[in-house]
Amino acid sequence: MKKTIALAILAAACGLLAAGHICAKPEVIAHRGASGYLPEHTLAAKAMAYAAGVDFLEQDVVLSKDNVPIVSHDVHLDTVTDVAKVFPDRKRADGRYYVLDFTLAELKQLRVTERFDRKTGKRVLPNRFPAGLAEFRLVTMEEDLQLIQGLNKSTGRNVGIYPEIKQPRWHREQGYDVSRVVLDVLKRYGYQTKADACWVQCFEYDEVLRVRNELGWRGRLLMLLSPKDKGSDGTDFAFLRSPAGLAKLAETVDGVGPDISTIVKWNKDGKAVVSDFAKNARAHKLTLHPYTIRIDALPKNCPSSDALHAALFRDADVDGMFTDFGDVTVQWIKANMPASR
Ligand code: CA
Repeated sequence: MKKTIALAILAAACGLLAAGHICAKPEVIAHRGASGYLPEHTLAAKAMAYAAGVDFLEQDVVLSKDNVPIVSHDVHLDTVTDVAKVFPDRKRADGRYYVLDFTLAELKQLRVTERFDRKTGKRVLPNRFPAGLAEFRLVTMEEDLQLIQGLNKSTGRNVGIYPEIKQPRWHREQGYDVSRVVLDVLKRYGYQTKADACWVQCFEYDEVLRVRNELGWRGRLLMLLSPKDKGSDGTDFAFLRSPAGLAKLAETVDGVGPDISTIVKWNKDGKAVVSDFAKNARAHKLTLHPYTIRIDALPKNCPSSDALHAALFRDADVDGMFTDFGDVTVQWIKANMPASR
């Protein structure tokens, strides 16, 4: 009987605190899909991450020449595709190949591979999926959402989406409005309110304001925060990371996505040192979703994958994480925070 009462009190406490942080389930966001194992943003990478039990799958979105939203981390094509071989004459004066200069039909002719250095040809993370094996193609935002919604139907789960509007200011300078296109797709696919399994994210503060105020996005919105002081569009990250900046952000967004180094660093002895950032974000009721767990490229002095997960989920008490290894992060939470999942 006593045990029952104690359990009831514990359950009630968890219920009360669920809106805060203790007992809340940390969310696992598959960064570009299961990018630790398969070329990023391919449908195969998304399906693998889905199967690992993540809560959200990320889409970085840029536009094609014919205004189709394409899932690609960069506005460039030359570090994840064979564009330089297929369309050698189509580079701009800066030597780069832009998604925006190709129609969807042309983009579909390209093969996607694991990320490589365009100057040396060497893969950025050499232990990941080998170059040249299997066949992967670029994916439109709609194809990506269709895969997730199809899997939600066949599994009965409700895995969310996490589109990032990439370089909106640059797109506008080129005569394109990527935010408007992304929000239009979201509306057509049933993502409109904060109750829907969707977060929209962006690194550009002016655009975040525009998405909320001018374009009328009513769903959840996350401001990405670079560890740099200023963004290429002029976003003042140094200010936005400060308590005053977080207070300002809280007027518009639901959450913030800083780099791991903003939350925690490791000293020479491999001990985690947590900054005040997480506490400050919490004080303004901002959801905290930092990026990115990479167990094959740990932060400086961080001794292990376990130490990385422990510092983020236990010490800093983040609400969720972007991770290249959704399976590892899901398993870590199951094993170490059993009450929460
Ligand atoms: Ca992203």
